[in-house]
Amino acid sequence: MQRLNTLDLSHFRTRLDEQAEALGFADLGITGIDLSAEKPRYQAWLDKGYHGTMAYLADHGDKRFHADQLVPGTRAVISVRMDYKPPARTRELLDHPTQAYIARYALGRDYHKLMRKRLVQLAKWMEQEVGALGYRAFVDSAPVLERAIARNAGLGWQGKHTLIINSQAGSWFFLGELFTDLPLPPDAPQATEHCGSCTRCLDVCPTQAFTKAWELDASKCISYLTIEHKGPIPKELRAPMGNRIFGCDDCQIYCPWTKFSPTTEEADFQPRHTLDEADLLALFGWDEATFLERTEGMAIRRTGYENWQRNIAVALGNGAASAEAMEALRKRHPTSTPMVQEHIEWALARLKDQN
Ligand code: SF4
Ligand code: SF4
Repeated sequence: MQRLNTLDLSHFRTRLDEQAEALGFADLGITGIDLSAEKPRYQAWLDKGYHGTMAYLADHGDKRFHADQLVPGTRAVISVRMDYKPPARTRELLDHPTQAYIARYALGRDYHKLMRKRLVQLAKWMEQEVGALGYRAFVDSAPVLERAIARNAGLGWQGKHTLIINSQAGSWFFLGELFTDLPLPPDAPQATEHCGSCTRCLDVCPTQAFTKAWELDASKCISYLTIEHKGPIPKELRAPMGNRIFGCDDCQIYCPWTKFSPTTEEADFQPRHTLDEADLLALFGWDEATFLERTEGMAIRRTGYENWQRNIAVALGNGAASAEAMEALRKRHPTSTPMVQEHIEWALARLKDQN
């Protein structure tokens, strides 16, 4: 394998940044392979059960703390970010009585494949420059501590809401990683955090999912409840969900740093099927075939039709007590699964209370 000498290195790095930009990445940073400093905090979080039923977050032993254990031979980790904020309303839609709120990252095409493909393209470009490489691309993969990697690579600091904040771009971006056996020198980590005395994200969280700054009980987070969680949603968390039927963005929406967030230029992240301002009743009317057809290639599909129905039933129960909403819930009841039926009953009881 042809390797880089010191003189080539800075030129290579400049071109690597250019190539990343050409592939649609907003930023690229490089870090080393040792994340063992993260272990005590991560383990304490798991021990408290804040990962809910996401057992995969406890799997893989120590591999997440040592990149070369996860991918043998790894000498450096490249961290990239890609802006995803579509030109869609955010705050204005929260708790809307008839319209759904879907996390803004999920309105377009599923980002996993797109970003992984671009990371592989970046690796292939590197191979053209330096010869055959060992590499592996990760996007939102369980044993990869993507936020710690991004911070260590200098892409931003971890906000009190636990997401990475970039001072130029806020937090509406995806992260991806390229593990490589090319021994690239690391960038300086983000050494400072700029949350200061702000506690906006902690205060506005509808389900009060933060136990303290920088600590999230994911089992109470609406993103977890509406996407990852199978089975009934705890009753006490249903009303705070409002109209959020897939994910939640509140802690980002209210963060002052997102005022600086650019709108994505990625065509694939533009909203599909007008889901950025969809009517709850229209979505509730989808049968399973329509759900599968409309969500093809989108992250929303991963939650499955039953959870989709469950989430919308909750949102209808939190919405306007109209005759149409009550009729739609009653009509759907006989053909729903027992789990969805229970949520429909909950919604109907709430709407009746308002009348
Ligand atoms: S995504 Fe929503 S529910 Fe989850 S922590 Fe942020 S504000 Fe709270
Ligand atoms: S809302 Fe405030 S405390 Fe929370 S991440 Fe943003 S700046 Fe930090």
